[in-house]
Amino acid sequence: METGQSGRADLPASLRDFRTEYRARVIGPWYNGFVHLAFVVLGSSAVIGAALSFVRNPTWLDWLCLPVTFVLANLVEYLGHRGPMHHCFRWMGLMFHRHTHEHHQFFTDQWMTCRSQKDFKIVLFPAVMLFFYLGVVAFPIGVLLYLVHTRNTAYFYVAMATFYFMSYEVLHFCYHLDDDVWISHLPVIRALRRHHRIHHRLNLMLKYNFNITWPISDFFFGTIYRAPQAESAREPAAIAQESAPAAQT
Ligand SMILES: [Zn+2]
Ligand SMILES: [Zn+2]
Repeated sequence: METGQSGRADLPASLRDFRTEYRARVIGPWYNGFVHLAFVVLGSSAVIGAALSFVRNPTWLDWLCLPVTFVLANLVEYLGHRGPMHHCFRWMGLMFHRHTHEHHQFFTDQWMTCRSQKDFKIVLFPAVMLFFYLGVVAFPIGVLLYLVHTRNTAYFYVAMATFYFMSYEVLHFCYHLDDDVWISHLPVIRALRRHHRIHHRLNLMLKYNFNITWPISDFFFGTIYRAPQAESAREPAAIAQESAPAAQT
């Protein structure tokens, strides 16, 4: 019998059925979540390291490319999530389906965590997405910067754009780990997990907390969820319940 968050056994039947059907249909017998995660982290790290190794004597203007790319990536993350990941646009229906119909149905705010490494598949982008991202987002703009600006700017851009992709994947992965995993207790991760957990409430997912990484754009667009006072007072009890020891089955 599948248990839910932190070993709870009261997983709703509808959610259990959805997960069982999804796993049988989508997750192949050879899939390994640790290999998937390692591919994302090692592949991204290799690109970042290679790009930075080409930087020579950067000026302050070259360095400026790093924070500018970071902020722009945060905006793109926000708009992509608020737009095509939650609204069905032409040509981007797959993104909408995978995120809204699958990820948000598989994980709700009360049932947020992977039950085994196989469930990493519903958190991480498909592995091929790294090549797509590098080929469509990182390299073409990097080449453009190389041609019209400086080579250092181009390499800094590729490094930061790739780092952002990797941090999106790794942070999102951390949000869907069990509450009792050590990394979940780090203060920054705790705060970001809470931000993302609220986004997983089905009645709030179209309105609040669209940044998966740092809620910078959420702050500027005014879409950080502020809980009513009564709800804030109730929250510690709810979290305590989710962290309760495994129920006997
Ligand atoms: Zn999520
Ligand atoms: Zn979402």
